[in-house]
Amino acid sequence: MKNPFERMPTVLTADELIDKAFRRAERAASAFKPRGDKVKKARQREELRIRTVSNVIRDNLKKVLERTPGLSTLPKFYQELVDVLVDRDTFHKAMAGIDWAIRMVRELEERYVERIRHSKDPDEMAQLRRQFYGRVASVLRDIDDRLRYLNKAREVLKDLPVVDLEIPTVVIAGHPNVGKSTLLKALTTAKPEIASYPFTTRGINVGIFEDGYFKYQVIDTPGLLDRPLSERNEIEKQAILALKHLGKLIVYIFDPSEYCGFPIEEQMHLFEEIYSEFNEFPFIVVLNKIDIAKKEQVEKIEEFVKRKGLEVFKISAAKGEGVEELKKKIVEVLRPLAHEVAKKKIEEELRRYRSALNL
Ligand code: GDP
Repeated sequence: MKNPFERMPTVLTADELIDKAFRRAERAASAFKPRGDKVKKARQREELRIRTVSNVIRDNLKKVLERTPGLSTLPKFYQELVDVLVDRDTFHKAMAGIDWAIRMVRELEERYVERIRHSKDPDEMAQLRRQFYGRVASVLRDIDDRLRYLNKAREVLKDLPVVDLEIPTVVIAGHPNVGKSTLLKALTTAKPEIASYPFTTRGINVGIFEDGYFKYQVIDTPGLLDRPLSERNEIEKQAILALKHLGKLIVYIFDPSEYCGFPIEEQMHLFEEIYSEFNEFPFIVVLNKIDIAKKEQVEKIEEFVKRKGLEVFKISAAKGEGVEELKKKIVEVLRPLAHEVAKKKIEEELRRYRSALNL
């Protein structure tokens, strides 16, 4: 799985692009050895300049259009993220602006080449060419804002988290310091990758574990599922929405020891919020730090959770106690989904083989 914006090229500003095109045109013109009389030579040289400027600009802009994925073609998870980061409307307008500029430059090219072909005066030809340069520059300056905007968007988009959208994914939630990243490390064998996650600037932890043929992804998103909804801004809310397209199971962690700094009541309150926000999801509830928690504290949360008809797993992520049982439960919940994913992959591969063999 790759970041869909990986291939998006740097977007030059209007002045940079104008500069590049004009310099290329001068280089081409000075290397060019036209034939014929003075008028013919001048005509060929000016035509070459115009064609070169037009080609350089259009190629450059086309590359931006071609290598930037259409937002609506992206998986839902990315659509939500991109929409908060770069605003869909502005993004589309910027792309439309580029499309417009490509067409305008092409039109000007044809018009001015035509006029130069009809001219018999080298001075007039040079003047027409300069006029063409001026008009092209003004087309590009018209879209300069959009070019700059796209380049800024690119800077953000190329840092989107690279998570595998195919693998069944567990999202870990709970207050800060309850042991989320410790559990992620205990569950996943691979060293967790820290992908950048532009909303929180704190990164997203991603780890993967395998169970036989199947793979499962575990992610922890510091800053997103560790505070009450009422304290989140719009961007964070939408980032949470994005998580819904990615996650298939929530593992909610309590810290009954309260060493995390949040009293049990507060933890219950956050749980209620996340439980109702993600009500369509299966939940697994974990009581962590069982090695240092008091019996009454554990019982208090256990009772609260059991009243909701949920099962409780008591673990110590730091010591690895109870982690295997928890993993078994996660696999039990997600295995049907993993089956589906594997089946789809195999079917796809079979299709590819068949078409390669012309069956
Ligand atoms: P996060 O903010 O939820 O990711 O929490 P961390 O995983 O960073 O853990 C916060 C602190 O709790 C760290 O100092 C951990 O070492 C500690 N911790 C995590 N799990 C356990 C546990 O099972 N027992 C004990 N005693 N400490 C733990």
